[in-house]
Amino acid sequence: MNSKSYTLDGIGEVVVRKHHQARRITIKLRPGQPPRVVIPQLMAFEMGFRFAVEKRDWIVTHLKQIETITKSAIYDEDNGFSSRLHTVRFKRCNIWCVQAVRAEGGYEMRFPADTDFTDSAVQQRIRLFLTEMLRAEAKAYLPDRVAQLAQHFGFKYNNLSVKNVHTRWGSCSAQNNINLNVHLMRLPEYLSDFVILHELCHTVHKNHGTQFHALLDKLVGGNEKKLDKELNKYKIGL
Ligand SMILES: [Zn+2]
Repeated sequence: MNSKSYTLDGIGEVVVRKHHQARRITIKLRPGQPPRVVIPQLMAFEMGFRFAVEKRDWIVTHLKQIETITKSAIYDEDNGFSSRLHTVRFKRCNIWCVQAVRAEGGYEMRFPADTDFTDSAVQQRIRLFLTEMLRAEAKAYLPDRVAQLAQHFGFKYNNLSVKNVHTRWGSCSAQNNINLNVHLMRLPEYLSDFVILHELCHTVHKNHGTQFHALLDKLVGGNEKKLDKELNKYKIGL
C-alpha cells in the first residue's frame, strides 16, 4: 500500500502518498482533487497527516486561490492570449525550463514537455508573464495616447502612472495625477480611449455629478451609457 486517505476538518479528504524519490514532506494541490501529502518511503503515513493538520490554514488559502484560477480562463496549447498588440501562444517543448521568445505577432512561451497546464503554479507563471507584457505595452502606448487626447480636447493633467490593479480601470487624484490600468491594453482602443477621457474629465469635475457626465457624454458623441455597458463586460485582471 502506497497511499492512505484521511479526513481533515474543514477540508475533507487528504491523501498521504509515499514516494521513493521524496526526501521531505510536500503538499500538492490540484483543481478538483483532494490535497495530496507526499512523504518519503520510510516515513509513517501518520506523520504526513500530522503535517497536513499543521498546514491546514495554508491548504485552505491555496485551495481558494486554485478555485478562482480554475474559474478564470486556463491558458494552454489550445488557448492562447491576445492583447491589442500581441498574441501569445503556449507550447510544450523539449526544454528544461520555461522560456519566452519573440514569435510572429508576439511571443511564444515554451514549457518543458511534461508540463501540466492545469497546475496552478503554471497558470500563475503565465499570468505573471502576461501582466508584464501588458505593462510594457501600456508604458509604451498610454503616455502618448493620453497626451494626444488631452491636447485634442484641451485638458491639463500632471503625472500619468500605469498600474496593475484589480478594482478599477483608472483614477484621477485631486492633484490631477492620472492612474491607468495595464489591462486597458486588452480592450479595443475606443474603450481604452473612453476610460482615458473619463479620467481627463475628472481634471475638471472631481465627482460623478451631472456636469461630469454631461461633459464626458459630449466628448464621446452621446454614447457614454452605451460605452459604459460595453466596458462592464470586461473583467479587470487575467
Ligand atoms: Zn470616475
